[in-house]
Amino acid sequence: MTSRALSRSLDPLDDETIVGFLLRLACHNGTNPAQIAARMGLMDEAGNAPGVVSPWLLADMDKPRLVRTARATHLTVAEASKLLLAPMGHKYGLVSRRYWPWTSPQQLARPNRWVFIRTSQYCPPCLAGDDDSLGRLYGGAWKRAWRLPVVFACSRHQQLLSRTCPKCRTPGQFAPTGLIARPGTEDLHPAQCRAVSPALHTGRGRRSVCGTDLARIRPTRLPGDADSVGVLLALQQRLDALLSADGPQKVNSCGQLVPVAQYFIDLRVVATLVLASWPEASGFAATPTLAQAIGREADQRLRDSRRRTSGASKRPYGINSLLAPMESPLTMGAVLGIAERMLDGREKQWTRRAVGPAYGSALTLHRDTFQKLARLPGTSSALQEVLGVAKEATDSSSAEIYVRGPRNG
Ligand SMILES: [Zn+2]
Ligand SMILES: [Zn+2]
Repeated sequence: MTSRALSRSLDPLDDETIVGFLLRLACHNGTNPAQIAARMGLMDEAGNAPGVVSPWLLADMDKPRLVRTARATHLTVAEASKLLLAPMGHKYGLVSRRYWPWTSPQQLARPNRWVFIRTSQYCPPCLAGDDDSLGRLYGGAWKRAWRLPVVFACSRHQQLLSRTCPKCRTPGQFAPTGLIARPGTEDLHPAQCRAVSPALHTGRGRRSVCGTDLARIRPTRLPGDADSVGVLLALQQRLDALLSADGPQKVNSCGQLVPVAQYFIDLRVVATLVLASWPEASGFAATPTLAQAIGREADQRLRDSRRRTSGASKRPYGINSLLAPMESPLTMGAVLGIAERMLDGREKQWTRRAVGPAYGSALTLHRDTFQKLARLPGTSSALQEVLGVAKEATDSSSAEIYVRGPRNG
């Protein structure tokens, strides 16, 4: 299939996703995102309904498609591939080839629990864009980093990220099917919420789009005390540095230098244990405010989990709700701060004393699930040793439960 190149293209912005780029291109060409997606050759993914762009193209695409996309948008293949999440796997462990089965098609074809494939967090001032002519016209980038739960704050604007539209409460960039909501609607700015707002349904069956300008909303409120704010923003800066392409390749986890991608998987495992076993690790909270935030979410999750497992189906979704990323950027930062401190121990013995009680308490909640979590593919051998699972062979099929579920972003 050949796609005609667009008459007008744009340079991708720093860390821009393919969704954000596509939305800006649609505005720049005076058309709708569906037209642009078709011209970029994104519409014909096998198994998709006609006219639907697979949400997985956000993460990765095969080489022939990438070449078509690059050609249609006047980019080099290297530039086009930078719009995808897959290259971030090198640092995040998302799809890194080194951590099989993260690269397998089966893994990529399922929502990953700690990557927001179907929604995006956002920083309003970042979305407003730079004060140059293109920035004023189309706003800033919808960033790839906002798809990672470990990015919970904007270091540049010193504020927590937002997850939902304040008006209609729909998660940022959520599309009921496909990659972009209402792809046939052309008069929306890239920063506008494209969700259908139930409050805006009009009389004759026509449904209206929310349209809230997400670049102009009030930022998510930071905690009232300066200590908590300082702790959260400093943590985000350290995580940003690890994720950055020119950051270190290795970092300490449980007293051993491990690849950064492994570290982020360790961080995810320990953060999940901290939340599931709360208040076991409350002594590690940096401030009372952050401990309270975690406590609120831990209670909520336990209630959710029990409600989901009490139905007739007995499917593991109740447990899945204990494994998903935290519900708010504030709790995300608060829990990650504790996990970071636990992994930072200079020797395994110390980390074992720190993480052990949380792991033990999580096992009483659901032994099988948390044992599997401890053996999550990609965790460092140091953490596996700390959790006492180092000798066990990693069962690749066991990862499925952690990457599937109704609460994925
Ligand atoms: Zn920002
Ligand atoms: Zn909205």
